[in-house]
Amino acid sequence: MATTPASGKAGNVLVLIETTSDGTPKSTAAGLLGAAAIIGTPVAVAVTSPGRAGALADDLAALGATHVYLAEAENAGTELGTAQVGALADAVNTYAPSTVLVANTNDSRTVAGRLAVVADGAVAADAVGLLYDDEGQEVIVRHAVFGGDYTTESAVEGGLMIVTVRPGAIDDRAEPVSDPEVVTAGVTTPAAPGARIDEATDVPAEAGRPVLRGAKAVVAGGRGLGSKENFSLVEELADALGAAVGASRAAVDAGYVPHSSQVGQTGISVAPDLYVALGISGAIQHRSGMQTSKAIVAINKDEDSPIFEIADFGIVGDVFTVVPQLIEELRARRS
Ligand code: FAD
Repeated sequence: MATTPASGKAGNVLVLIETTSDGTPKSTAAGLLGAAAIIGTPVAVAVTSPGRAGALADDLAALGATHVYLAEAENAGTELGTAQVGALADAVNTYAPSTVLVANTNDSRTVAGRLAVVADGAVAADAVGLLYDDEGQEVIVRHAVFGGDYTTESAVEGGLMIVTVRPGAIDDRAEPVSDPEVVTAGVTTPAAPGARIDEATDVPAEAGRPVLRGAKAVVAGGRGLGSKENFSLVEELADALGAAVGASRAAVDAGYVPHSSQVGQTGISVAPDLYVALGISGAIQHRSGMQTSKAIVAINKDEDSPIFEIADFGIVGDVFTVVPQLIEELRARRS
């Protein structure tokens, strides 16, 4: 979704950075810092363990953070979001931002709601664009609603605006910063305890394949694939395109792929440059998670399938006939 360059400046914009288990920024960080730079000065806020702060600050500066606020917290690994809520509340006091941006992920959505209570703010959920009003004064948040059929705008009258941003929807990037101001502190604002984490296991990344959330290209398969074995065709095309693998709920329910691959209302929302839908009918609940993709390609044997209503390129045909040819052609072009 296009964003409007800043004609006004909203001052400091806090960005909550999610980190991986080895303490590096997750892939959502670049888009969030880019989104922050559209409306103001990006201030990255991350919870970290002692010893990792230096490398993390360098990573965040390279992604465009003008200021980096690192909170070292005891309970970071054991309580879901509590340290992040406290760190953001402290950073709100330090930087007096107009806006806080977080990723529209399960973890950060939880933090957004809790921060709104602690810092007396309001949440604008699942943003696909940020811009200024006509006077260049007020930040406006854009949302794709009703399966992406309509675009709405929201703003907050007074108080702190907390925005959850759909990963991949805003692809502006901030300029790298060579000399960011780095602050390392403890968490002083208490937040009500969150759910306790007893045990955590990283979901192993599929070898060489991009993660679905925030991927630049996604190939998704539906019930039309017919079986778990046949679903390998989706994976093959994904690998030929360097894309992540997604699925409809029907494919997930049928056991072709795990729930972590589900795109849609009750799955993950994606907004890649390219979304290829194979054997997916295009139900509203699926579309709501992918309709803001920049280019949509659909292959379906039913020409009346609703997916063709939103496809930029459509092929009416059998996936088992069309997709192998597509893969062959892609491989031929590469060699
Ligand atoms: P189908 O609707 O059965 O479509 C299969 C398609 O494959 C058909 O269009 C058919 O023409 C085509 N096809 C069959 N064989 C071939 C072939 N050989 N070659 C080419 N095409 C072929 N769905 C989601 O995806 N994500 C969600 O998050 C989600 N959340 C939901 C939440 C709620 C509350 C509810 C009620 C439903 C939700 N659903 C969700 C389910 C949704 O309504 C649809 O049932 C689901 O998306 C259908 O998946 P599908 O397109 O794979 O299957």
